[in-house]
Amino acid sequence: MVIGSDTNNAKRGFGRRLWINAPIIFCIAAVVAVGLALYNYSETYYQQAQARAVSQAQDTIRRVMLDVSQVFYSYDSILKASIALLGDAALEALPEDTKDRLLSRMLAEFPYVHALLFLGENGEVRFSAGRERVPEQGFSGADFFSVQVSGALVGPYLAVTRQDGASGPEVAISRRVTYDGQFRGVAVAFIRLSDFRDQFTNIHIGDGNSIALAHENGRILTRRPALDGQGDFGVRLSATERARLAINAGTYLAVSAVDGKERLFVFQHVPDWPLDLIFGVPVSVIDQAWRDRMTLASGGAGLVCAGLLLLGVRLRRERVRRVAAEAALEQLSVTDFLTGLANRRRFDEVLQREFRRAERTYAWMSVVIIDADHFKALNDRYGHAAGDETLKLIAATITQHARRAGDFAARLGGEEFALVLPDTPASAAFEIMERIRIAMERSVGLEAGPPSTTLSAGVASTHDRPRPETWRVLFERADQALYRAKREGRNRTELAAAQPAAQPEPAETVAL
Ligand code: GH3
Ligand code: MG
Ligand code: MG
Repeated sequence: MVIGSDTNNAKRGFGRRLWINAPIIFCIAAVVAVGLALYNYSETYYQQAQARAVSQAQDTIRRVMLDVSQVFYSYDSILKASIALLGDAALEALPEDTKDRLLSRMLAEFPYVHALLFLGENGEVRFSAGRERVPEQGFSGADFFSVQVSGALVGPYLAVTRQDGASGPEVAISRRVTYDGQFRGVAVAFIRLSDFRDQFTNIHIGDGNSIALAHENGRILTRRPALDGQGDFGVRLSATERARLAINAGTYLAVSAVDGKERLFVFQHVPDWPLDLIFGVPVSVIDQAWRDRMTLASGGAGLVCAGLLLLGVRLRRERVRRVAAEAALEQLSVTDFLTGLANRRRFDEVLQREFRRAERTYAWMSVVIIDADHFKALNDRYGHAAGDETLKLIAATITQHARRAGDFAARLGGEEFALVLPDTPASAAFEIMERIRIAMERSVGLEAGPPSTTLSAGVASTHDRPRPETWRVLFERADQALYRAKREGRNRTELAAAQPAAQPEPAETVAL
């Protein structure tokens, strides 16, 4: 016996499924949101890691910049002091060896400068200290000399050179010498590149990082970690790199020629000197910091997601249980406790629904009301408990004979039952009822089972004439037919309409 579902049921079913699955849907949405947030965080964190690396590099550059400036200003100060001492027309006439001696004393005060030269207007060596051999032809071709000749440069000039008579590459710092506003030559201080580098050995730059001090002409003065031996005198920045350094400060990504590693380079020009400081952070270090953080973050996010999903699954299970419990309760509320058939409330619902459906589709639909005969007497004779068993027997007999899909049986109360038979003409309903009645009649006298009783029934149908306008009228007519059956002697079935139409009525047409 199936109770047909309708659109309302389907809607309710969809709503209920949505409600049941809402926690899972919500959790999946939350997991997606966590995923998106993680992705967003990952992007942001990488940028932050880069920004942090840049700012640390800038800090180191600022620190080294101070050292570098200090070193170069101290080199420059010897030039200024010697020019102040010797760059005077009045001292011009002093013997050469006296001037050499004065210069040597000066040199002794500045131990890191290993040679000092005074050059004449044509680059010839006028007098010197610390240089064993000086070239015959002088220094007219050297950039530290020629730069100062024009007078365009006011301050010191710095060059990296390898000169005859020097033990290795040197840093040369030159200044213009003038007497009474007239160009009289150039003073030059030489520092061994190796000595210069020694002043930067205690710079801490962190593992994997690099820092280089480069001349505008691309020559690298020093680098940490140090390049092999003195060979790095030959190491020059490429034209592309020099072009990048043309601005005062900035950053760029490039693969280092030294170790082939990709680095983020941060650079800054050294004020007043033709120098740039370039700090390199391996991209792999930034990547690793990002990977470590993301491992942590995704671990956390994974835990949150797992927790959310677990919560979702639990909530859903709770809801499934609740729905099942509610359905069971609802089922109980429409079930007759004794017989397991539907109760009066459910019967009314089904009758109304089936009546409306039959009206819509113009289909047959029959209702049968059944009442046990002399049931009071049975109760009185066998006892109430036996009476109950008989009621169960009646219910079983009814369901046994009304088993088509859509057939619906209910206990209306007491010893009264009913059948709703969709798509069933009155005559067919009558036959079904007769089979039930006869089955009950035949069970009378069986000793094994409960005491039996006979049944009286009334059958009414949607196609009776006049047509019942409402389900109540249909019910009333079946009830009246039942009373007729009682009056006529019980144990019988009566039709509400004396002569039911054999076929469904055609739609109202008039033959003119
Ligand atoms: P009639 O042939 O005219 O229908 O006579 P009747 O005795 O069956 O009808 P009546 O309405 O006088 O009595 C119905 C009886 O059904 C009264 C009551 O004892 C009995 N009854 C009602 N509900 C139950 C029930 O749940 N269990 C049992 N055992 N008896 C019930
Ligand atoms: Mg009764
Ligand atoms: Mg009765």
